[in-house]
Amino acid sequence: MHRRIVFLALFSVTTVLASAALLDGQESAPPAQTGTTSAVSTTEHFDPVAATNAYLAKVPPDKKAKSDAYFEGGYWLILWDFLASSCIFILLLATGLSARMRDWAERVTRFKPIHTFTYWVEFLIFTSVITFPLDVYEGFVREHKYGLATQTFGPWLGDQLKGLAVGVVFGGLLLMALYGIVRRLPRTWWIWGAATSLVFLTFFALIAPVYVAPLFNKYTRLEDPAIRDPILSMARANGISAKDVFVQDASRQSTRVSAFVTGFLGTERIVLNDNLLTRCSLAEIEAVMGHEMGHYVMHHAYKGLMFFGIILVLAFAFLSRSSEWALKRWGDKWRTHSAGDLAALPLFAFLILAFLFVLTPIDNSYSRTEEYEADIFGLNAAREPDAEAEVDLKLADYRKLDPGALEEIIFYDHPSGRVRIYAAMRWKAEHLHELGNRE
Ligand SMILES: [Zn+2]
Repeated sequence: MHRRIVFLALFSVTTVLASAALLDGQESAPPAQTGTTSAVSTTEHFDPVAATNAYLAKVPPDKKAKSDAYFEGGYWLILWDFLASSCIFILLLATGLSARMRDWAERVTRFKPIHTFTYWVEFLIFTSVITFPLDVYEGFVREHKYGLATQTFGPWLGDQLKGLAVGVVFGGLLLMALYGIVRRLPRTWWIWGAATSLVFLTFFALIAPVYVAPLFNKYTRLEDPAIRDPILSMARANGISAKDVFVQDASRQSTRVSAFVTGFLGTERIVLNDNLLTRCSLAEIEAVMGHEMGHYVMHHAYKGLMFFGIILVLAFAFLSRSSEWALKRWGDKWRTHSAGDLAALPLFAFLILAFLFVLTPIDNSYSRTEEYEADIFGLNAAREPDAEAEVDLKLADYRKLDPGALEEIIFYDHPSGRVRIYAAMRWKAEHLHELGNRE
């Protein structure tokens, strides 16, 4: 929640960069054979729509209802998070608490950057404590209720505290830089602020796989040659010179199956999580890794940075105009009058949250488009359409398989199961002869 502000920026970048292909499943029995083996027979007149429907029909109604409920509940959580955070930020301003927090920070030391850091720590702790019950519900209770979490409360809380510490350090550094800019360049800070944020977030995305991710999970080299070698072979075939594939011990937190590519400029890592290894057949793993390699080969990390750069400039322009207006109107009441005043931080937090809230469909559509591209790349690289469809079905645990068109545009950061399975079946329809020969 408040971490939407703290990390939204940080994690938006890493999400765009990481472009995680989240694939999940409880299905214990992977297909005995891969390739053309499936529920759908390969006849001469292979109908991709019928094949897609046949795959979707494999999910039992109660399981479908459960995953639909989980995913649709997430729509409401976006709204509740937004409303709850907004209330807290406005409360901080309206009660004068933010002004008191600023006064206190200024008494600690004479140095302005330390004022900023101190205020930031106060702000983060205050919002974390207030939103704690909602965070527990969202991140712990609800995840357990749907069978997606494996962590007990202690380790979960430990991860939350580590996240808070990362927010204190990185958020604090960014804010110290931004406030320095706002105070020195009162008219043009928004453009320099956007540029500085982009550089900072790029840096964060660069170091996160090496220094931040290991705080939460262990990353080890995949040693099993039966799985590693086909993955590395596919990587070489697609011009990726990776020598290692890393395994993330994601099962310590959840049952979700996922894989991702993180980092860039030399910190790139192709990572698959241990749930993927234990729950999927080799063909399914190859289908997933083909998708991940697509992100890498198509430079989604760099394109994501460009996209996020544009969003940042727009966001800062909006912040500049709207904060000026709000401070003129309510500044006396809030005891804060300028953008360079720390006490106005909750106003900026509220404004950026509102901006990103409105932008959710655009953000999601950008991500979903890249994910779709990676799917197409993965089909061509791994040539396992049925394994791809099986893996898409494993999403049924936590992502609604068959949404409406508008629903998908607004809420989906990955294509829905129906869209992904259809893409796989469409590919299969055009490669039947080839697949038949291989078998
Ligand atoms: Zn992806």
